[in-house]
Amino acid sequence: MNEIDHEIIFKYTGYRRADFSVCLGCKICASVCTVNDLELNVNPQELLMKLFVGEIIEGDHPLVRYCTSCYRCASACPWQIRIPEVVRALKESLGIEARFEKAFKKCINIWGRVYEPFVVVMAAPDLLKGGYIKYMPKWMEYAGFHLPHKVKRVSSSKTSKGLNPTEEGRS
Ligand code: SF4
Ligand code: SF4
Repeated sequence: MNEIDHEIIFKYTGYRRADFSVCLGCKICASVCTVNDLELNVNPQELLMKLFVGEIIEGDHPLVRYCTSCYRCASACPWQIRIPEVVRALKESLGIEARFEKAFKKCINIWGRVYEPFVVVMAAPDLLKGGYIKYMPKWMEYAGFHLPHKVKRVSSSKTSKGLNPTEEGRS
């Protein structure tokens, strides 16, 4: 990747090179990165620093290959740096399109929405070949985290006691 491609990334994301200089180096992004959960030693901050100093980033960078665009890093970052968007711009400039991305785009073209069974069928060769299956328990754990959790109800008598202390005093 050359210097012009760096400029394309800044154009796609709306960031300027100097914007990455605000990074605190706290590595919170690394600690919450979904890809890092798979022990690939991924550090989104390192990617930003490489862009900041104008280093070449190849297509085999773990984030370019595996970033899930989950936005955990962006929401945890004190500066809310949108790292997944940087990764997507990187992929565009490198001409990399993952099978999942192709599947999602095709779905949108055909149905105007994401149709999960179609995505799974289209991505099946990658899932089987790339050894993703062995990570399924980890992904399920992650997916489970986002499921709605039941909130315990306080019994109605306790609620009325807590909410209406004056009424209780009257009775
Ligand atoms: S969006 Fe990408 S870089 Fe950020 S936490 Fe998720 S996988 Fe990691
Ligand atoms: S969380 Fe944000 S500020 Fe901290 S290292 Fe990552 S990109 Fe930099």
